[in-house]
Amino acid sequence: MRSFMGVLFVAAAALWSNAGSAQTVADTLLVNGKIVTVDDRFSIAEALAIRNERIIAVGSTAEIEKLKGPTTRVVDVGGRTVIPGLIDNHAHFMRAAEYWHRGVRLDGVTSHNEALGLMKEKAAQSKPGEWVVVLGGWSEEQFTDEPRGFTRTELDAIAPNNPLALQLFYFRVYANSAALKAMGIEAGTPEPSGIKVAKDDKGQLTGALDGEPAIGLLRSKLGEVAREKAVENVRTLMHDLNKMGITSFQDQGGSGTKPSHIEAFRLAHDSEQMTVRSFYNYYEEPRSAADVDNLIGRMAQIKPFQGDDWFDLTGYGETLYFPLHDALLAKAANPSAEALQLWQRLGLALAKNGIHLNVHAQLRGSIEGFLTAMEAINKERPIKGLRWTFSHLDQAQPQDLERMKRLNIYAQIHSRPVIQGALMFGVHGPLTYDMPPLRLIQDSGIPWGLGSDATAVTPSSPFYTLWWAVTGKMIGGKQVLRQTISREEALIAHTRSNAAFLFQDGNLGSLAPGKYADLVVLDRDYLTIPADEISAIKPLMTMVGGRIVHNAMN
Ligand SMILES: [Zn+2]
Repeated sequence: MRSFMGVLFVAAAALWSNAGSAQTVADTLLVNGKIVTVDDRFSIAEALAIRNERIIAVGSTAEIEKLKGPTTRVVDVGGRTVIPGLIDNHAHFMRAAEYWHRGVRLDGVTSHNEALGLMKEKAAQSKPGEWVVVLGGWSEEQFTDEPRGFTRTELDAIAPNNPLALQLFYFRVYANSAALKAMGIEAGTPEPSGIKVAKDDKGQLTGALDGEPAIGLLRSKLGEVAREKAVENVRTLMHDLNKMGITSFQDQGGSGTKPSHIEAFRLAHDSEQMTVRSFYNYYEEPRSAADVDNLIGRMAQIKPFQGDDWFDLTGYGETLYFPLHDALLAKAANPSAEALQLWQRLGLALAKNGIHLNVHAQLRGSIEGFLTAMEAINKERPIKGLRWTFSHLDQAQPQDLERMKRLNIYAQIHSRPVIQGALMFGVHGPLTYDMPPLRLIQDSGIPWGLGSDATAVTPSSPFYTLWWAVTGKMIGGKQVLRQTISREEALIAHTRSNAAFLFQDGNLGSLAPGKYADLVVLDRDYLTIPADEISAIKPLMTMVGGRIVHNAMN
């Protein structure tokens, strides 16, 4: 019976296409929308047609409906705004997936009390003894009711049966009693190296652990995640990203990245479970001349572009010579000639192997030092085709942008101030208003795009990044950036421009014939709502390659 029906169906389809016009039949039509194509002219259309994962036509609803066949699915978006799938050009999602099932996210939460409620809810859903963690992505200053951290006592009250801990950027952990105990920290024990254990005037632990090693200590206690669970976490994370409108990202590795993180994505890919196009850069942390030699010796083994449009290695990420990595809230960088020499040797090896580079550089000293090294590298081996990229560029000056332009260096700008802005004022004072110099970068003509740097140092939703770029505000409402850009400029930077970092210019970033049907239907119009509402935009539907991966449309 089944095969008979199958034959009938095929025969009917063949008959239709013979009888019909010469035009191709679409798999899916999206009609009655305000389709913000983000093509070169930023044109707005009403409808689009999809076939075999790609957009085949964009136009008016009447035009596009001509591509309807008997099996075509028609999605009527009822006048809603549709934008290209958002691309995060710089994230650390692969590392974050590992403990996603234990995690609570406080992204965008402006109430201390609400934050407690979210952690309480997660603890109640967890088995006794299971960890509950907030692995960054929040700041004390985002809470408008009580801008502060958390005490051991209040964390004990909401999670009496579970170890509960919060990572605050890379400088502090807040923990309840069970978490402190699991980390081997008690009132009488000596402080672990590099960690300051806070105590009240009675000598009791407050629950705060200061110093970067506290983050490593916490992570080391979270336990192994079985391979199957790790793949499930990858699926859940990708789905959570789809709900935020993310359809692609470039991952930069970062401290704590393990081969198992990449393996979990590879397994998800090989079993066809991808719902976010996941591109990543190779990451290592050379810390000495010997490490540098060792890495150079293995450089030829880094082989980008062996994958496909769902999962691929794109280059080398984040940091070349680790001692020159700008710390989060550092005030200035003064790289030594010797360290820059090592940086340059690594850079030259990348250039010789034709490898794309994304390098973190916030501070003036680093930006200038790296540019000098890049100019020297370029004389020996041209880098102009490799799309080498600076991330952050907080303190870039016009002359830096000129040098970047001559070398064809791209820029990635991240929305760290959306939660770190207040802390940046503490370090840089009013200079913070121009960090990063977003307007200057937009006007420079340099290829540049917007990303988050999630998940430890920013929230993940691209709508926070877009909102920050347009309004200059941090979560909680404080003005932290003076150099804002228009909504159109911000959207281009978070879609079409970002395709370049993934070497996917021909496939992603705009809603145009030939490109993949990666798109997001929004609950309100990004282009016309009050700017303050941009952070509250909720995707109603997300499609990747023409497949609906998130649907909250009724
Ligand atoms: Zn990063």
